[in-house]
Amino acid sequence: MSFDLTRVRAQFPVLAREVNGQPLAYLDSAASAQKPQAVIDAESHFYQHGYAAVHRGIHTLSAEATTDMENVRTQAARFLNAASPEEIVFVKGTTEAINLVANSWGGRQLQAGDNIIITEMEHHANIVPWQMVAERTGAEVRFIPLTETGELDLSVLPQLIDSRTRMLALTQVSNVLGTINPVKEIIAQAKAAGVATLIDGAQAVMHEKVDVQDLGCDFYAFSGHKIYGPSGIGILYGRKEMLDQMPPWEGGGSMIATVSLTEGTTYAAAPWRFEAGSPNTGSIIGLGAALSWVSELGLDVIHEREQSLMRYTLDKLASVPDLVIYGPKQRAGVIAFNLGKHHAYDVGSFLDQYGIAIRTGNHCAMPLMNHYGVPAMCRASFVLYNSEEEADRLAAGLTRIHRLLG
Ligand code: PMP
Repeated sequence: MSFDLTRVRAQFPVLAREVNGQPLAYLDSAASAQKPQAVIDAESHFYQHGYAAVHRGIHTLSAEATTDMENVRTQAARFLNAASPEEIVFVKGTTEAINLVANSWGGRQLQAGDNIIITEMEHHANIVPWQMVAERTGAEVRFIPLTETGELDLSVLPQLIDSRTRMLALTQVSNVLGTINPVKEIIAQAKAAGVATLIDGAQAVMHEKVDVQDLGCDFYAFSGHKIYGPSGIGILYGRKEMLDQMPPWEGGGSMIATVSLTEGTTYAAAPWRFEAGSPNTGSIIGLGAALSWVSELGLDVIHEREQSLMRYTLDKLASVPDLVIYGPKQRAGVIAFNLGKHHAYDVGSFLDQYGIAIRTGNHCAMPLMNHYGVPAMCRASFVLYNSEEEADRLAAGLTRIHRLLG
């Protein structure tokens, strides 16, 4: 199937908006993506026609809602090519997924003297949970450093991994630099050393097809809101053998087999053991619609279109005076930059006046900011609904800001 930008854009109602008297150029999808009508309709239809509490009810609406929710689990398994729906845990997002693994898996497996390897380009969501569990257990957090061009310096990995390494957790795509990490090869190295692996797919699943069995990872996490789905919902994939060994993390309803005040509690099987309380059913239904929408368009088609737009945009930005672009040439979705000595917030505020929405700040990646010696960066992100015209406007806007601010 070929890519029809006009048709794609027409499916995102918000893209028709004006901001500050200009057509909206939404270049902040890496923070959170806009939603197509199909996702908005699916969630709205559920609330209008099928809403009920799941799992506990015998009545028709409850049974239907349960089936709808479990169908999305099956769909998510297929989307990631997991071996079975039982390897899919519904979570709030990538952050909760990593916290679940750090607490449940890490809390049981880690001992004083063990170590966990992450990287210098991680989002705080894949740093802080590991630091917290390390502090609790006496484990150490090590990191793979970055090269000048913003890629992982993998030459140090053989020295970092030792007999006490238990986990290697890294992002597939950097949320700041767009670096696409060779995760399959890294996972293979970790596996050969008997080290568990977690991939943060928050910035990857919307750009290319992910096959967790082919990657060979133990865990894979992503957030619904970045793949055109609702917020407050995400997926943790865990290899069955891993999930089966893991204790529950949060306790409550839905995650138990039996509860007795005198004999204690026995737990449900995975993945339900990790889903205490009432789930975010509306968002689960919306996520199902988002995965269908993306799959229908085709991740191969999306990938090709986005790569072509990235090349066009980088080429355009090359003409902006004093623009420093961070990260490697080959990248997915995002372009981080600074304009001369101007603070990212100033640049972002000016662009907003021109109707262009970008992200500014530390991007929840303070170690990465430290690596480059800057407090903040601007980040423009490009996805399937962005256009060459928006790239032109970004370049023209930055050139104008440069002229105005000097
Ligand atoms: N990891 C990466 C690489 C991210 O980009 C993000 C979101 N910015 C997260 C984790 C956290 O995702 P969420 O806030 O949806 O839990």
